[in-house]
Amino acid sequence: MKVTFPHLGNAYIFIESLLQGFGHEPITPPQGTKRTLEWGSRHSPEETCLPFKTILGNMLEGVDLGANSVYMIGGWGPCRLGYYAEIQRIILQDLGKEIEFITLEVPQGNYHLAWQRLQKIVGSTEVKKLVQGCQLSWAKLKVLEDIEALALQVRPREKEAGSTSRCLQRQLQRLRQVDTIRSIQELKAQAEEELHDLVDTSSRTEVVRIGIVGEIYTVIEPFVNLQLEERLGYLGVEVVRTISLKHWIEEHIFKNALGLYSLRPLKRSASGYLRGFVGGHGLESVAHSVDLAQKDLAGIIHIFPLSCMPEIIAQGILPQVSEDKNIPILSLVVDEHAAETGFQTRLEAFVDLLQRRMRICP
Ligand code: SF4
Repeated sequence: MKVTFPHLGNAYIFIESLLQGFGHEPITPPQGTKRTLEWGSRHSPEETCLPFKTILGNMLEGVDLGANSVYMIGGWGPCRLGYYAEIQRIILQDLGKEIEFITLEVPQGNYHLAWQRLQKIVGSTEVKKLVQGCQLSWAKLKVLEDIEALALQVRPREKEAGSTSRCLQRQLQRLRQVDTIRSIQELKAQAEEELHDLVDTSSRTEVVRIGIVGEIYTVIEPFVNLQLEERLGYLGVEVVRTISLKHWIEEHIFKNALGLYSLRPLKRSASGYLRGFVGGHGLESVAHSVDLAQKDLAGIIHIFPLSCMPEIIAQGILPQVSEDKNIPILSLVVDEHAAETGFQTRLEAFVDLLQRRMRICP
């Protein structure tokens, strides 16, 4: 099968490798652009959230490049994500696209349906090849997130503006090509060395550390968050991530499928503010903000798409967290009309506020 899939940051490197392991040909859509969003928005119900529109745009671009199948994740719970795959399948069908639509979701009791889907995905690939494919792609995901995390530390301290992003992109494109666990580990060591070399060790400028919480797609996908991490890095900010795709897969897919996933740690952190799951990452946003406030951070940014119900709930709670824990929290809402200039101005003002606070109470 020629399979396309939506973008989620650099996760395409992991997904491509996984699809190849399953014996499919990955059709990676181009990185999100204005065209992606325009195309997706044109065929989406107007009131849906930004991820729906961008993801639909990715699918249309992938199908345009020759894909005959689409992979999309599904979901359960109060958030609209659970309906997305089905609505997108109908939209593509109405547009006359003859494609196989495969939704990946944690089985909630319907193991027969889950098994049917799994069979479609793995086809007739030998078990040995499947295991090797999974190991290789998982190793790529781990290294990908490790070097991204290191780049977040290096960017605000780099000698030459832009060198971290260039180095990161170069290493990610190499990671895409390598096909053994050993070469992945060698690449990781080399990437770490190159990134460390970019640090300006003579600089005495104090780096501001900011944690990011919010809706997973908006936090991870740079096209929809207007390159938030890079912008902050260039403002001298070390970004601390609270969301990782690897962690999400471990918790929400593996542990959930085995009945081992528990919301207890999140509820414990959010206790006094939010009692339970509200869909999406609403509970995580509150719990992680409380956790971040106990760490040595200057502030928190909460980012989510317009009309995202779980994050609107979190947004209503976070001012109280900010007051109780004495940590500034900036909420940023994005949609297809988000303007870069206003976005940049808000970030600069927030970073300026945090730098002043650091000078007053070091
Ligand atoms: S979490 Fe929010 S943005 Fe994401 S799918 Fe649900 S409603 Fe949409």
